[in-house]
Amino acid sequence: MIQDIEPRIFQNQYKTKKADLKDLFLAYKDGSVLVKEDKDKLWYPSFYDYVQMYPNLINKAQFLFTIDAINYYLVNSEDFDVLAGWSFVSSKKFRTETKFWRSFAGVVGLQLQRWYSNHKYCSRCKHDLSHSTKGRFLKCDNCKFKVYPTIAPCVIVGVYNKDQLLLTKYVGREYRNYALVAGFVEVGETLEDTVKREVMEEVGLKVKNIQFYKSQPWPFTDTLLAGFFVQVDGADKITLQKDELSVGVWIKRKDIPTQISNLSLTGEMIEVFRTYK
Ligand SMILES: [Zn+2]
Repeated sequence: MIQDIEPRIFQNQYKTKKADLKDLFLAYKDGSVLVKEDKDKLWYPSFYDYVQMYPNLINKAQFLFTIDAINYYLVNSEDFDVLAGWSFVSSKKFRTETKFWRSFAGVVGLQLQRWYSNHKYCSRCKHDLSHSTKGRFLKCDNCKFKVYPTIAPCVIVGVYNKDQLLLTKYVGREYRNYALVAGFVEVGETLEDTVKREVMEEVGLKVKNIQFYKSQPWPFTDTLLAGFFVQVDGADKITLQKDELSVGVWIKRKDIPTQISNLSLTGEMIEVFRTYK
């Protein structure tokens, strides 16, 4: 999955450390990221690459995270002009880059950039928010309000009935691969409550034997996914929630299409069921 970047180590403990010239920076413009594309790889710029033209860039950089010994910083794309050889490319590239650590860095950086750019003012008293030096949060110096990064919990549910798995397609995404039942956790719910509610709402089925599989940060949509396998309880007749799903079908293990991408938890869960012995 996208976060599985071993042997590299992702560390997101917040630091106030100033950037070095060798550190990398991430700059975004309308969801696109600044890279040099070479040999099917995305290379992120270091401050060294831009120091001659923009010696002050390093002083305005916001620490993001570390992968191995390299620190990643966020730089405002309005603070410099793109130098020859570099360009902004769509973040969709992150879904096809085979070196997961590169895409993971780019997409986690994009989530943080989106959060910073969406939270410039205090929603309580309208004063400017500033960066705390104590952790990854923004604070209002007027009313002391604090704003933390947005992470919405979601469940992904593999509903099975003997050797069949319930596969879905969401409305408006008919040409995409099969998905599983999925949905956001509501206020006051446990993850298990969400699993039962979403399966009932989307396909009209009761479930039992709720088993946690794995979790996955999904920075593309500011969500944290929790994957569960559950067994259908009683009747297996599917009643589709038509405004959400266009397809909801039982598919036998031997007929499930091989999952080509191992980026997402959904893909991994379908593949785990398909290859189960
Ligand atoms: Zn305030």
